[in-house]
Amino acid sequence: MSQVLAAIIPAPHAPVELRELPEPALERNSALLDVALSEVCGTDVHLQAGRLAGVPYPLIPGHVSVGHLSEIHGQMFDVNGRPFKEGDAVTFLDVHRTCHQCWHCLVAKASTRCPERKVYGITYGMKDGLSGGWAQKIYLKPATRCIRLASDSFERFMAGGCALPTALHAVERAEINLGDTVLVLGSGPVGLSAIILALLRGALKVLCIGAPENRLQAARTVGASDTLNIETHNEDERRQWVIDHTDKRGADVTIEATGAPAAVVEAMRFTRDTGRVCVVGQYTDHGEASFNPHLDLNRKHLDLRACWGSDFSHFYRGAQIMADAARSAPWTRLKLERYGLAQANEALTAVATGQAIKALIDPHA
Ligand SMILES: [Zn+2]
Ligand SMILES: [Zn+2]
Repeated sequence: MSQVLAAIIPAPHAPVELRELPEPALERNSALLDVALSEVCGTDVHLQAGRLAGVPYPLIPGHVSVGHLSEIHGQMFDVNGRPFKEGDAVTFLDVHRTCHQCWHCLVAKASTRCPERKVYGITYGMKDGLSGGWAQKIYLKPATRCIRLASDSFERFMAGGCALPTALHAVERAEINLGDTVLVLGSGPVGLSAIILALLRGALKVLCIGAPENRLQAARTVGASDTLNIETHNEDERRQWVIDHTDKRGADVTIEATGAPAAVVEAMRFTRDTGRVCVVGQYTDHGEASFNPHLDLNRKHLDLRACWGSDFSHFYRGAQIMADAARSAPWTRLKLERYGLAQANEALTAVATGQAIKALIDPHA
């Protein structure tokens, strides 16, 4: 039986280690994916820091990946009913097994809150097999939803990575209108994809407050008209900057993609009366923030929404956009840093410090 090299997080706070794992026997209607690229995102930093609940350590991180189907046992179909064949270039929805039977799935139509939901590289651990992208191969269990990609679009798709469906969901929830001025708080991968998608959705102008400077540079490169460094401006200065750039009203729509609780309050304060706020950055629990319900929310007649995870529709539409050369051009301007499996710890540091715009794992490097 051949061996597969994988990088694993053995336990919270422990450095990533290399392991050799046996190639699995395939169940009916399952496949092996030969991984071309996987990503390192903020979630992986949180996984290593033990900040996510319900994670079955040890695990192979890497929840969004691209590659070629190297072996298929039985049959797998795309959403249009066309069968996949060995050698096809694909990505796959990292969320596996939402149940389509529970109250969340069937009544609330909120599959991202399904309690049966399992995610490759996050809530599937090593005991579930080759279930993360920081490995030469991933075992795609039966009922995994694959999406076709062009072989030459791997880098472009991964420049968006998991941030692409997340930002697409946020922009959809934010209901941006033609001609809106949108404020994006945060210049990490989700913030950057949100800037591009807000413009695709018809925003006239997108402002971005974030850090560090290399990420703000990236924000301008993908279309932000103005940026402000949060590290060198206090809250009053930030609010004044937004006021100065929005005819003294505040943004029509603000998307919070930072992870800092206080940013949610700033999002409310920096948005105009009757505007909309969408919170997408609070993926882990960083504590509380306080606000004035009268001044910050009710009197402003504010529409405050939140957005959790993404579903197949966001992944699918994200892949469709990436297949369009003109629409996906902004993502090709983002600088990618590639790391081999043995450099996974360096990759995590580069992401945690904001040094890398987008870090990718190339398991064959
Ligand atoms: Zn369910
Ligand atoms: Zn991610």
